Amino acid sequence: MIGAGLSGSAVAHSLAVRGWSVTVLDQAPGVGAGASGLPAGLAAPHVSPDDNVLSRITRAGVQATLQRAQVLLQSGTDWALTGVLEHKLAGKRKLPADPPDQHSAPASAAQIAAAGLPPGTPALWHAQAGWIRPRQLVAAQLQTPGVQVRWGQQVQGIERRGDEWAVTDAQGQTLGQAPFLVVASAFDSLALLRPLPGFAVPLNPLRGQVSFGRLADLTDAQRQRLPPFPVNGHGSFISGVPTPEGPPGWFMGATFERDCTQTPVRVEDHHANQLRLATLLPALGEAMATQFGPDRVHGWAGLRCSLPNRLPAVGPIDALRLPGLCLSTGMGARGISLAVLCGELTAAWLSQEALPLPAALLKHLAAERFASA
Ligand SMILES: Cc1cc2nc3c(=O)[nH]c(=O)nc-3n(C[C@H](O)[C@H](O)[C@H](O)COP(=O)(O)OP(=O)(O)OC[C@H]3O[C@@H](n4cnc5c(N)ncnc54)[C@H](O)[C@@H]3O)c2cc1C
Repeated sequence: MIGAGLSGSAVAHSLAVRGWSVTVLDQAPGVGAGASGLPAGLAAPHVSPDDNVLSRITRAGVQATLQRAQVLLQSGTDWALTGVLEHKLAGKRKLPADPPDQHSAPASAAQIAAAGLPPGTPALWHAQAGWIRPRQLVAAQLQTPGVQVRWGQQVQGIERRGDEWAVTDAQGQTLGQAPFLVVASAFDSLALLRPLPGFAVPLNPLRGQVSFGRLADLTDAQRQRLPPFPVNGHGSFISGVPTPEGPPGWFMGATFERDCTQTPVRVEDHHANQLRLATLLPALGEAMATQFGPDRVHGWAGLRCSLPNRLPAVGPIDALRLPGLCLSTGMGARGISLAVLCGELTAAWLSQEALPLPAALLKHLAAERFASA
């Protein structure tokens, strides 16, 4: 495996529980160097009036993630199945007339009021949804017996040697060799895979910044306005989740910036998140305006790795020209919701098991959809 983020750790876990021996190489010194270092994010379904492919795949993904969290993580500190209120701005995100399950429904008057939104605000309630601290999930998945992680290993080259794949560093030294190789190094996968024949996966970087602060630094009046569950719909607001330093905090994000590969935290992005909160939860946005000042707010920025149809690239790229080589990347803004499912798919592919998703959905995720002619 190359890459120990949500994607790589999920594949490693799914393979190891099937009895595989997995070595994960990551260039970073430890967990959470990439997008999966996000301090807190949401596992929440996508809905659409026609229950489109993205909605169906995301629903399956969220279910897989929540099940994994239930087994591996500590509720309340690492994740929580809180339910999520979706503020439907500008009529976005309608439910199908005949909803596929009971987990997403119009929000009740009490839920809308608890969020601090005016009566009658269009909103949905997603019961099977909640917050997760991705680092905790990554760390837990990497601890699966059978998974060995080697940090500080920057892969610069991938080559076929006989029946195996070898990965090399900048000096051409071999870092590892195995019959199967899974590339899960997010946007960096592009540079690693580009020299290989049959590869044409159009991965793009998508910068994002989250603004956050400690609950202890809020006034009583501000604390009283905090919704008791996460709210999304125009970015997302989460509170009561431990900050990276430990004490509970609030989190507002995230910005979206295409074609930027830089991740320093920026003052103007905090301002953009403040404006987002003012639209998402106007009363809270007004009450918390002072918290976004550079002397108070903390930030975290990272790069999502996205694909044109907002769905990842998973599994074999080209079984004939690149046998034994799989991808699990392109999670975009939904890695928390999708990486666990993609890990299960990749492991099922490599283990030649039945795949845990109908073929009609699978073809939209399969990396081989990008195989060049
Ligand atoms: C601001 C922001 C907010 C987000 N909010 C949410 C949210 O609320 N819900 C949600 O579902 N998703 C969210 N996401 C998306 C989610 O964080 C990502 O989709 C997910 O973390 C991607 O995981 P990954 O393992 O594919 O990539 P990464 O976490 O980036 O992992 C890639 C790993 O590969 C390693 N690597 C790279 N190149 C090499 C190399 N050459 N050799 C060795 N190792 C290498 C890196 O060190 C890194 O550890 C958000 C993302 C951002 C940036």
